Amino acid sequence: MALVACPECNHQVSDSAFKCSQCGHRLRKAKRGLFGTLFKWSFILFNVLMAVWLFSSFGIMGEAMQSSQNEYEQAGAAIGSALGMGMIVTTWALGDIILGLLVLFTRPKEA
Ligand SMILES: [Zn+2]
Repeated sequence: MALVACPECNHQVSDSAFKCSQCGHRLRKAKRGLFGTLFKWSFILFNVLMAVWLFSSFGIMGEAMQSSQNEYEQAGAAIGSALGMGMIVTTWALGDIILGLLVLFTRPKEA
C-alpha cells in the first residue's frame, strides 16, 4: 500500500482509496464486480428485447385488425391485443424492477 498525494488538497492518501480522506475528492472510480457487470448488461439487453417485443406486437396487432372479417372479429382482435400489450408492459415493469434491484445491489462499493 503506497501513499499518493491528493490532486485536490495534496493530502497523503492510500493509493487503494477511492476517495481522499481529507477532502472527499474522488481519486478513482470503483469498478463493478463480475456480477455487477453481468446484471448491468442483462438489464440493458432486457430493455432492448422488451422494446423489440412490444414493437413487433404492434405489427401483429395491426395485421389481426386488418384481416378481421367483421366488427366482432375486429373487437376480438383489439381485446386480444390489449391483453397481450398489458402482459408485455407488466413483464417489462416487473423485469425492470427485479433487474434494477440486482444492478443496485451489485453497485460498486466505495472504500
Ligand atoms: Zn484531498
